[in-house]
Amino acid sequence: MTCYINGVIHTMLHEKEMYHQLVVENGIIVNVGDALDLSSCDQIIDLKGAHLYPGFVDAHLHLLGYGEHLATPNLSACTNKQMVFQHLDQFRGSAYLFAQGYLDQGITAEELEIRYPGQIMLLRHNDFHGLTLSKAALNHFHVSDDTGILKELKAQHVLDLIPKKTKQSLMMMLEKAMDSLYQYGITGGHSDDLFYYNGFDETYAVFEDVMKKKPFRTHLLMHHEVIDDYIKSKKLWGIQSPYLELGAVKMFYDGTMSSQTALMKDPYKTTKDNGEVVMGKDHFTEVLLKARSYGLPVAVHVIGDLGLDEVVDLLHTYPPKEGLMDRIIHAPWMMHETLAKMKGRPMTFDIQPPFLASDLPRAYQLFSKAPDAHFPWKTYLNHQLILSGSSDAPVENPNPLLGIRDAIFRRSRVDHQVYQKEEALSAFEAIKLYTTTAHAQSLITPRGYIKKGYLADFTVLDQAIEHMEEEAFSKPHVVMTIIDNKIVYRRD
Ligand SMILES: [Zn+2]
Repeated sequence: MTCYINGVIHTMLHEKEMYHQLVVENGIIVNVGDALDLSSCDQIIDLKGAHLYPGFVDAHLHLLGYGEHLATPNLSACTNKQMVFQHLDQFRGSAYLFAQGYLDQGITAEELEIRYPGQIMLLRHNDFHGLTLSKAALNHFHVSDDTGILKELKAQHVLDLIPKKTKQSLMMMLEKAMDSLYQYGITGGHSDDLFYYNGFDETYAVFEDVMKKKPFRTHLLMHHEVIDDYIKSKKLWGIQSPYLELGAVKMFYDGTMSSQTALMKDPYKTTKDNGEVVMGKDHFTEVLLKARSYGLPVAVHVIGDLGLDEVVDLLHTYPPKEGLMDRIIHAPWMMHETLAKMKGRPMTFDIQPPFLASDLPRAYQLFSKAPDAHFPWKTYLNHQLILSGSSDAPVENPNPLLGIRDAIFRRSRVDHQVYQKEEALSAFEAIKLYTTTAHAQSLITPRGYIKKGYLADFTVLDQAIEHMEEEAFSKPHVVMTIIDNKIVYRRD
């Protein structure tokens, strides 16, 4: 038996419900209280006044993508052309460069050729929906394009041609990601990785092998391109081991805000069009039906307000199997009439509070007319929709404290203004996004509360989140991260 003592234990059942002692046996909470009998404890963990919460979970991220991001040159801090060039100058002369996080500044293949003659360069756009290639890269991959700025399928085509990584390097990327996430107090994540690297079987094996050495509660979405491989693998859907689950089929309905490809009711100001259904509506429906034919739920990427409305209609026409729920990923913009259609439906929402801080007010400059509702999280909660918090890392920093902060304060990182205060969540609601309702789609339950019978995954902080000042959220507060009653991170 392990006993945790001298802590402030936030059960998350009620806002003010706190205890000071906790007993765990075989990875399961057996008792929570204040004057417990600790005589049969063979391990005592003194929390020294620290605050213990149910373990943080990121409901939508890309674990391998995040690991790769940690191991790859990154341009996300470069906010103009000159900064990009300054950063790239460090790699002058290297035959091959793959950089990530590039905020498209309109740099062309021609410009790259002039500055870095003959170098094969690939700049992956920050939104993961575009790729800028140097002239040498266009030649190398036999792509003809005037600017070298490729979007959506054309970009994906080139990404598919990049030589695959070794299994060893994928394992290294995954471990790197997990080590970083432990430091943020993260005990689990719902990840979309199985398509982008070495195919379903090998990528799955990477997770299986790493999880044998290092615990992390991993729920893997299955990209629609790997459904056939999944079926061939004969794996059963759902729980694979205490640390691994196979989940919904990941699909994309529309594009992104920054590429102006998210499907909006009103056209974009400059492009004069409304964005796009990236796979085409017919193909999307076909893939949805295929997922349904195997009894699988879906997880749909959708950003635009019209996109959301159409997805909700499609999921209503072709609902998931009884007892299963689909996932809507993102949903930052909404038309008023969509809300009533979402209420009570078998679907949960993976939202990214940091997107508000990054996208506002920039998104407003793109619209010809403002959408009805903007990151309407309070409205969603008021209509009993189930929200799970996430970062979409490596798109955003995966630190859940930043997501909690953005859900509470709704302050833009760009102009530092607060947007739609009426949609702000309380601290308790915001913490729930990353602890309790983060598990809306987890298959190994019960999790997400500190309660008898629940799994012993904990995040321990040096302060109560409920009382943190806005500025305090960006400071490090994680004292310990505990998964399955094992301490995977401890601050020195
Ligand atoms: Zn994503």
